[in-house]
Amino acid sequence: MIVVCPSCGAKNRVPEEKLDSKPSCGQCHHDLIPLAPIELNEQNFSNFISNSDLPVLIDLWAEWCGPCKMMAPHFAEVAKHNSHVIFAKIDTEANPRLSQAFNVRSIPTLVLMNKTNEFARISGALRSSELQQWLDQQLNANARS
Ligand SMILES: [Zn+2]
Repeated sequence: MIVVCPSCGAKNRVPEEKLDSKPSCGQCHHDLIPLAPIELNEQNFSNFISNSDLPVLIDLWAEWCGPCKMMAPHFAEVAKHNSHVIFAKIDTEANPRLSQAFNVRSIPTLVLMNKTNEFARISGALRSSELQQWLDQQLNANARS
């Protein structure tokens, strides 16, 4: 499957069974799946989303938002345990066009994408256990459909 490098944007072909063994980018040698949230913005978003074969879980947040800050460590914690999902953050203030495209009404909002298709969304701060549970449910539902 194709994994887009979060550091340089290069497309890397990674066999599915190698996803858990810390694959690195053929171009820049950084981790392809850093197991920590990456930053998406108006410059790298569309390349990343449209080329990545892994589902991408996006945290839409803002600096002034208390609940967003509360959730951040939980989001990072869950990212460590999910090598088959890319965890990404979008700063809604710095990226108003993306935030408008997602039609964000409240933050934090989590959006789960498979390529350019949004297949699940939830608003409000979640703890790591709640977040993992929600993610598992969505991924199972998506696998069945
Ligand atoms: Zn790279």
